[in-house]
Amino acid sequence: MPKKNAKAAGKPDTKALSKELFRDRSHAAVKTGPRELGRANKFAEGYKDFLNRSKTERETVDYTVQAAEAAGFVPFDPNTKYAPGDRVYYNNRGKAICLAVIGKKGASEGVRIAAAHIDNPRIDLKPIPLYESGEMALLKTHYYGGIKKYQWTAIPLSMHGKIVRKDGTEITVCVGEKEGDPQFTITDILPHLGRDQMQKPLGQAFTGEDLNILVGSLPLPGAEEGAQLYKLNIMNILHEQYGVVESDLISAEITFTPAFKATDIGFDRSMVGGYGHDDRVCAYPALEAIFKCKTPEHTVITCLADKEEIGSVGNTGLASFFLDYFVSDLAEAEGLNPRHVWSMSNCLSADVTAAFDPNYGYAYEANNACYINRGVGIMKYTGGGGKSGSNDASAEFVGWVRRMLDKEEVVWQIGEIGKVDQGGGGTVALDISRHNADVIDVGVPVLSMHAPFEVISKLDLYMTYKAFKAYFEAT
Ligand code: MN
Ligand code: MN
Repeated sequence: MPKKNAKAAGKPDTKALSKELFRDRSHAAVKTGPRELGRANKFAEGYKDFLNRSKTERETVDYTVQAAEAAGFVPFDPNTKYAPGDRVYYNNRGKAICLAVIGKKGASEGVRIAAAHIDNPRIDLKPIPLYESGEMALLKTHYYGGIKKYQWTAIPLSMHGKIVRKDGTEITVCVGEKEGDPQFTITDILPHLGRDQMQKPLGQAFTGEDLNILVGSLPLPGAEEGAQLYKLNIMNILHEQYGVVESDLISAEITFTPAFKATDIGFDRSMVGGYGHDDRVCAYPALEAIFKCKTPEHTVITCLADKEEIGSVGNTGLASFFLDYFVSDLAEAEGLNPRHVWSMSNCLSADVTAAFDPNYGYAYEANNACYINRGVGIMKYTGGGGKSGSNDASAEFVGWVRRMLDKEEVVWQIGEIGKVDQGGGGTVALDISRHNADVIDVGVPVLSMHAPFEVISKLDLYMTYKAFKAYFEAT
């Protein structure tokens, strides 16, 4: 036996030693087997439905309230004393939401928070958007979040949002998602005439002011004379459908998103392609995990925030105190000091990370990249340029998290977004760590992040759900 001989001769068994000493980086499907793959596929069906029904933060909050009430959650009342197992939610202006299940120990030893964001990169309208040019009606826009502008031209778009009329009445709009709805698009120049454009660097070939949305091409029917008849025709249609006039668009939040539906990707159907995985691919499993939660040891919270893509600003972003107030109210209802509760709390800041992309392998450091299908990604730190702007979780907390995940057989990986000094990104981890809570970034690796059509793996999505479930159930 060569192996025995090798040992007898004092040579090490490198295979056994490697297995013992090296980290297992195998594919999640190898680690978990076909049963978990089946569960992951089933979980992804619910996720695709969620993606199709909730393309903006407002639509996601609407979905969440409906699903939460069906799962026994009731609106939070800060003056009520809650008992273990009670389920509450706090809807912040229809754009952000916190859900909690009260634990056996309540908040006395801190709370457990899963925080994700539900706004996505998109195209917003300017306050005075409608104009006509070249015998067409168009809308002026201001893009939202970090986008590569060229990706948003020549694709079908749908319209979402809210208009508040002069009399104060509110109208919710959603056009281009239902079968038979019209859709919209931003045009691009044909290659035949694209010589000037194609000589420019990519970052300059498309400007923000070029991103104008095509919404009509007929003058007002029957009008024989008059100015701006293309614009007038569209305004007339909007007036007939919604009772709005041009000045009502000033008090509106109207957003255009890609119109396409979520779909399986690959002959093996192992992935999901769709708009807005960042960060609804973390929001959905965080929701499903709290819905499944019965009576946890510690009070658990899923927080879905707005405005992350533009710096977590505003009163619905996590730089605001709305989550702090929610935790403080829970603490005070139990007679606890909110500061002390926060200091004993911890948080999984759930946001996507970059998946290694072989087409652009130069941007990643292969040993420390996250890979599609290797499970939920953990990021000890994010940021860029010397960890600047990152939370950088402690060794102790990373240690606790990895024990917690291993105990429940969650397949996970750890990585950085890309090569050192290649770029970087931030998450809500910073905003939460400010309260003296332990925070770590976790999430699903994404291909084509921030593109109108992003790709994730079903196994990674499912492992992220299992991670939140393990976290909420941990003692
Ligand atoms: Mn994100
Ligand atoms: Mn993002």
